[in-house]
Amino acid sequence: MEAILVSACLRGVPCRFDGRHKASPEVEEALADRRVVSFCPEVAGGLATPRPPAELVGGDGHDVLDGAARVVEDTGRDVTAEFVDGARRALAAAQHAGCTEALLMPRSPSCGRGAVYDGSFTGALVPGDGVTAALFERNGIRVRPAPGTTPSGG
Ligand code: SF4
Repeated sequence: MEAILVSACLRGVPCRFDGRHKASPEVEEALADRRVVSFCPEVAGGLATPRPPAELVGGDGHDVLDGAARVVEDTGRDVTAEFVDGARRALAAAQHAGCTEALLMPRSPSCGRGAVYDGSFTGALVPGDGVTAALFERNGIRVRPAPGTTPSGG
């Protein structure tokens, strides 16, 4: 049975910044016949739940990994180190389980793939990947956005 890493909030873990989850029947259906590794990079990186919302500033997750952008909470606190640490821990968990694919929460500054919030905390999106999604793509783990999810990342 093939292993897949999944954003923990998509599996009913209330680990989003607002203390809620994003479980859905569509996600469970997409995971049928898969060995699922549920993981939350932000919690693994040491952040509390609930926590202030955070967005990517100055670039996307690839830029963060290259040291050219930051992750900042709406309070102004810089949480770049926590996001990068959580991404590395997620990659280690995925590799340990033999995952070649991940199903991640859209638009999150960690888990988003293809579109993320633009750093203005206005709900505006820009093309790009979250920090964990970027690290996964760089290491050969294909990232799929989760089906059946509504706006707002974690
Ligand atoms: Fe955790 Fe946010 Fe990713 Fe959900 S979207 S797993 S809450 S980091």
